[in-house]
Amino acid sequence: MVSVPKTKNTYCKNKECRKYTLHKVTQYKKGKDSLDAHKESVNYDRKQSAKTTKKIVLTLQCQSCKHMSQYAINMHFEISGDKKKGIKHQIKNSLL
Ligand SMILES: [Zn+2]
Repeated sequence: MVSVPKTKNTYCKNKECRKYTLHKVTQYKKGKDSLDAHKESVNYDRKQSAKTTKKIVLTLQCQSCKHMSQYAINMHFEISGDKKKGIKHQIKNSLL
Protein backbone atom coordinates (compact mmCIF):
# COMPACT_ATOMS: atom_id res chain seq x y z
CA MET A 1 0.00 0.00 0.00
CA VAL A 2 1.10 3.49 -0.70
CA SER A 3 0.24 5.81 2.07
CA VAL A 4 0.28 9.36 0.96
CA PRO A 5 0.36 11.99 3.66
CA LYS A 6 -2.13 14.79 3.29
CA THR A 7 0.39 17.46 3.94
CA LYS A 8 4.11 17.56 3.46
CA ASN A 9 6.74 20.02 4.42
CA THR A 10 8.81 20.51 1.33
CA TYR A 11 10.75 23.06 -0.62
CA CYS A 12 8.69 25.56 -2.61
CA LYS A 13 10.41 26.62 -5.81
CA ASN A 14 8.22 29.62 -6.34
CA LYS A 15 10.08 32.90 -6.06
CA GLU A 16 7.67 34.11 -3.41
CA CYS A 17 8.82 31.38 -1.10
CA ARG A 18 12.04 29.59 -1.99
CA LYS A 19 11.96 27.86 1.31
CA TYR A 20 10.40 24.89 3.03
CA THR A 21 6.71 25.37 3.41
CA LEU A 22 3.72 23.21 4.13
CA HIS A 23 2.22 21.66 1.01
CA LYS A 24 -1.10 20.03 0.50
CA VAL A 25 -0.64 16.64 -1.12
CA THR A 26 -3.14 15.14 -3.50
CA GLN A 27 -2.74 12.04 -5.53
CA TYR A 28 -3.16 12.56 -9.23
CA LYS A 29 -4.49 9.12 -9.90
CA LYS A 30 -7.64 8.72 -7.91
CA GLY A 31 -8.53 5.75 -5.83
CA LYS A 32 -6.83 3.72 -3.20
CA ASP A 33 -5.44 0.72 -4.98
CA SER A 34 -5.19 -2.45 -3.09
CA LEU A 35 -2.20 -4.70 -3.32
CA ASP A 36 -4.28 -7.15 -5.30
CA ALA A 37 -5.17 -4.51 -7.84
CA HIS A 38 -1.49 -3.81 -8.35
CA LYS A 39 -0.74 -7.48 -8.80
CA GLU A 40 -3.40 -7.77 -11.42
CA SER A 41 -2.33 -4.73 -13.34
CA VAL A 42 1.28 -5.86 -13.31
CA ASN A 43 0.33 -9.28 -14.56
CA TYR A 44 -1.95 -7.83 -17.14
CA ASP A 45 0.46 -5.29 -18.52
CA ARG A 46 3.70 -7.20 -18.48
CA LYS A 47 3.25 -10.88 -18.20
CA GLN A 48 6.78 -11.70 -19.24
CA SER A 49 8.67 -9.02 -17.46
CA ALA A 50 10.29 -9.61 -14.12
CA LYS A 51 10.42 -6.02 -13.10
CA THR A 52 8.28 -3.07 -13.79
CA THR A 53 8.06 0.41 -12.47
CA LYS A 54 4.93 2.38 -12.05
CA LYS A 55 4.78 6.05 -11.49
CA ILE A 56 2.36 7.77 -9.21
CA VAL A 57 2.03 11.48 -9.64
CA LEU A 58 1.31 13.63 -6.66
CA THR A 59 0.26 17.22 -6.80
CA LEU A 60 1.74 19.47 -4.18
CA GLN A 61 0.26 22.83 -3.42
CA CYS A 62 2.15 25.31 -1.35
CA GLN A 63 -0.08 26.50 1.45
CA SER A 64 1.72 29.77 1.64
CA CYS A 65 1.70 30.98 -2.00
CA LYS A 66 -0.62 28.37 -3.59
CA HIS A 67 2.02 27.41 -6.09
CA MET A 68 1.30 24.02 -7.60
CA SER A 69 3.92 21.49 -8.45
CA GLN A 70 3.86 17.89 -9.46
CA TYR A 71 5.92 15.22 -7.96
CA ALA A 72 6.27 11.70 -9.25
CA ILE A 73 7.16 8.76 -7.10
CA ASN A 74 8.29 5.48 -8.53
CA MET A 75 6.68 2.31 -7.46
CA HIS A 76 9.04 -0.51 -8.10
CA PHE A 77 7.67 -3.96 -8.48
CA GLU A 78 9.71 -7.07 -8.26
CA ILE A 79 8.20 -10.32 -9.27
CA SER A 80 10.12 -13.25 -8.00
CA GLY A 81 9.59 -16.91 -7.47
CA ASP A 82 6.60 -18.76 -8.75
CA LYS A 83 3.29 -17.03 -9.07
CA LYS A 84 1.57 -19.09 -6.43
CA LYS A 85 3.74 -17.58 -3.76
CA GLY A 86 2.74 -14.13 -4.82
CA ILE A 87 4.50 -11.05 -5.91
CA LYS A 88 6.99 -9.09 -3.97
CA HIS A 89 5.82 -5.60 -3.78
CA GLN A 90 8.26 -2.87 -3.06
CA ILE A 91 7.92 0.84 -3.01
CA LYS A 92 11.04 2.83 -3.40
CA ASN A 93 10.40 6.30 -2.30
CA SER A 94 13.12 8.34 -0.80
CA LEU A 95 11.27 11.58 -0.40
CA LEU A 96 8.00 10.85 1.27
ZN1 LIG B 1 5.23 28.70 -1.96
